[in-house]
Amino acid sequence: MPFETLNGTPFADVTHPDDLEADMSLFREGLAGLRDGYAVERRYVRPDRSIDTSLMGDLLLDLARCPQCAIASPRLSVVWASPRAMPRTDGGQERWWACYTCSSCGDVVGARAIFDGRNFHVEENFPNAKMAHEDIPEIARRFLQQAFETLHAPDAAAVMAGSAVDGMLKAKGYEKGSLYNRIDKAVGDNVLTQGMADWAHEVRLGSNRPRHADVNRPHMTADEARQSVEFAEALGNFLFVLTAKIDRGIKAAKAGES
Ligand SMILES: [Zn+2]
Repeated sequence: MPFETLNGTPFADVTHPDDLEADMSLFREGLAGLRDGYAVERRYVRPDRSIDTSLMGDLLLDLARCPQCAIASPRLSVVWASPRAMPRTDGGQERWWACYTCSSCGDVVGARAIFDGRNFHVEENFPNAKMAHEDIPEIARRFLQQAFETLHAPDAAAVMAGSAVDGMLKAKGYEKGSLYNRIDKAVGDNVLTQGMADWAHEVRLGSNRPRHADVNRPHMTADEARQSVEFAEALGNFLFVLTAKIDRGIKAAKAGES
């Protein structure tokens, strides 16, 4: 707001009504000599409805993990923020956008927010932090979730992906013997296709390298770990999520008929 406009304007005129009482009581305490002074940090919307974009910098402070690399408490710096609410013609609530970069992986994280006149509220992050699907049985699901959350540490993620695949086969009744034999048995029973089994063996071998501190190739690359985790997720979708969805669909259709 230009100085000429602001000069002579009582601060009550530029303070959100909900904040006014707190401000006034601080102000009165100052006048009464109870405090030397006070400072209240605020966001102000300019007359053209734009805001200082640096104010969106702390929007994602509460994000527990970087949705790209999964590192905990990521340091995210704002690289771009919408200078004003994005115009829209469908009458819906106006939205603000910001893009951040993660100091760990250097990748971009987006946030969509609404502004209530005082504060921004994040509606959604892009990408969304990955969650292992609830239709995957508990033990395998926890391994898969940990695989998602350790992608910044490829060896750990690969081992967790192997454990997730192991847990999924056990949940399907393949409990005895080595993972190697159980994968092949699942192919024999048509639970896995040959292609999926080949992939499952890759995940198994990948998780063995860090687990057994392989002399020649102990470590997984970030890409190898990501592929292992993607397969574990795909296998979970195939074995549990899809079948649960189909079962629910059939039940709903039957309920509709009767
Ligand atoms: Zn990151």
